[in-house]
Amino acid sequence: MKIVITGGAGFIGSHLCEYFLEQGQIVTCLDNFITGREENIKPFLKNKNFKFIRQNVTEFIDIPGKVDAILHFASPASPKDYLEYPIQTLKVGSLGTHKALGLAKAKGARFLLASTSEVYGDPQIHPQPESYWGHVNPVGPRGVYDEAKRFAEAMTMAYHRYHGVDTRIARIFNTYGPQMRVSDGRALPNFFSQAIQGKPVTVFGDGSQTRSFCYIDDMVEGLAKLLDSKESDPVNLGNREEITVKAIAEEVIELVGSQSELKFLPLPQNDPKVREPDISRAKKLLGWQPKIDRHAGLKKTWAYFKTVVEK
Ligand code: UDP
Repeated sequence: MKIVITGGAGFIGSHLCEYFLEQGQIVTCLDNFITGREENIKPFLKNKNFKFIRQNVTEFIDIPGKVDAILHFASPASPKDYLEYPIQTLKVGSLGTHKALGLAKAKGARFLLASTSEVYGDPQIHPQPESYWGHVNPVGPRGVYDEAKRFAEAMTMAYHRYHGVDTRIARIFNTYGPQMRVSDGRALPNFFSQAIQGKPVTVFGDGSQTRSFCYIDDMVEGLAKLLDSKESDPVNLGNREEITVKAIAEEVIELVGSQSELKFLPLPQNDPKVREPDISRAKKLLGWQPKIDRHAGLKKTWAYFKTVVEK
């Protein structure tokens, strides 16, 4: 198979490149390095099955020859990143998705959209099933990401229904593991780097808000199974183990064996109070559920952060 991965130098994107290269597939990675990183793809550059094109996917995507599948992962994806790049986030979710779908249509390729639990906004239904339409503030600071992804889903369904493109939509919940950018501003990179450096660990609000963290290897397996399936309606992918932000901050401090204390900072606007995926559809349709528990996942993630955080 020849696979195109937009955002292939990002956190999840680079793990997908690795996974498909290991499967013996031919991978073309597109990235403009706004939030993706060269280090993430360096190990693949000598692989003859790997090709890198530096480009902004909001511009016409020209890939010669056949393409079997396109995985559209390009987008700033952490709250800090999409607040820093609001217009680029809106453009890659809308124009970038349009270009990637156009490529899928031209090549007769399968298309998988990286969507997000953010389409549910600050949810009023818990846990969140795919049938929930969400509770999003379009004009709040997170609206640039949430609405871009909601638009991307609508565009994907339109190409599916109108042009018959073979599409998949993954609603990805919080995912963590090696290759996360230390400075992406997300909870776990912040907590690990602060704990390793013995600095105060910054908990936003009172830390009672919840998230459910999925280890990257489980996520990659879920995405690969979704790509292989025939399911064009959205599918939630994530880990069901819900935990408060304060509790996971404490788990990280304990794991690292750090003297760091918690430092409570104001809660960002529209920060979802709860988040947990209902993964019954993924279980039924893909026979998938996460296997790596949080303790094991955090240990592997710590091993990575130890190598990249300067003490
Ligand atoms: N958070 C925190 N301290 C930090 C970074 C994040 O308490 O240094 C909180 C954030 O307010 C949110 C949760 O951790 O409630 C997860 O944030 P993240 O940026 O990882 O992603 P989100 O799930 O909000 O998209």
